[in-house]
Amino acid sequence: MYSKETDCVHNQQQQQGVNTPIYTSTANRYIGYDEILYPRNFNTENQKAIVGKLCRLEKGEAGMVFGSGSAAISTVLFSFLKAGDHALFSQEIYGGTAKLIVEEFPKFNIEFDFIPNAEIGKLDSMIRENTKLIFTETPSNPLLSIVDLEAVSAVAKKNNILTVVDNTFATPIIQNPISLGFDVVAHSGTKYLGGHHDLCFGAIVTSQKLMDVIYQSALNFGGSLNGLDCYLIERSLKTLALRVEKQSSNAMKLARALQENPAISAVYYPGLEGHPNHMVAARQMKGGFGGMLSFELKDASKTEAFLNRLQLIIPALSLGGVESTVCQPSTSSHASLSEEERLEQGFTDALLRLSVGIEDADDLIRDIEAAIAGIQ
Ligand SMILES: *Cc1c(COP(=O)(O)O)cnc(C)c1O
Repeated sequence: MYSKETDCVHNQQQQQGVNTPIYTSTANRYIGYDEILYPRNFNTENQKAIVGKLCRLEKGEAGMVFGSGSAAISTVLFSFLKAGDHALFSQEIYGGTAKLIVEEFPKFNIEFDFIPNAEIGKLDSMIRENTKLIFTETPSNPLLSIVDLEAVSAVAKKNNILTVVDNTFATPIIQNPISLGFDVVAHSGTKYLGGHHDLCFGAIVTSQKLMDVIYQSALNFGGSLNGLDCYLIERSLKTLALRVEKQSSNAMKLARALQENPAISAVYYPGLEGHPNHMVAARQMKGGFGGMLSFELKDASKTEAFLNRLQLIIPALSLGGVESTVCQPSTSSHASLSEEERLEQGFTDALLRLSVGIEDADDLIRDIEAAIAGIQ
């Protein structure tokens, strides 16, 4: 057993090279071999190298990497759910996951309900006889609300229900849901695991027993990943702990500075003592509270002008990379929701979501302060 910093760097594999050679062959000899080697069988050395690392980091027995986070999530959901089943989802999950459920589940006669994170304490009362799966995500997007994973897994276990969590925002460096009783952990690797805004992939980590079930469906759905991307992912993972530690400490500094700024009316960051779920976050997140935070300008009409005045922080979609990026959820990630739905989830058009990178924290703070000074 090594620390996460060490596990990020080393593969613990006996091979001559320090890095896994890139294996691109799709035609492979089969006579005399036990296993059919093929990318869609999820069994190339490049796929296995990343899975091995992710299993050690997430404290799971088995895993799989996919061509996107959405491929990972849809594969898990359709591995376990069938016609007539019911599943429960946190209301504040990633928009693409909500879209998948609302648009695809009715075609297969799978029932579902969404439950706001604030009402997760009532989870028990939402469970039906045919409830087979509970899916959540913490910290949430864009308000960084926190779901108590131990509490959810306790309710699920009592009712014999499978639990899945999207751990993209927290990363395995900060949060290990399997250790908190969850069955399956999913990631959009496109974000922190890749970390350089240049890779699109997904991953899951779980027990060997559940992986045996998922594997059969994954072969049918075919969301596998190529060797070249795997190689870059393996390289990215070497610096995952370093990056996430820096992103988290930067985010904490920014959250404190933004809180002091009179032009900012609200800051959402689970590391702040005033955050409504701070105590739960402090219990289940280790070594930091992640690199995502959101804030609201007092004068909502100046939001666009503010974005245009930033010199360093890039107004861009996606998140989790080494460069700090910012977006306005109401016109980007959550544009498909009506204004009413956004208000129901607790945020206005003035909300800005910041993905804090690895730059110098004071440079980032100065960039925001200068942009605010420019719009006054
Ligand atoms: C981006 C994202 C996804 C989807 O991942 P893709 O790699 O874009 O398919 C899922 N969950 C969360 C929390 C995300 O941020």
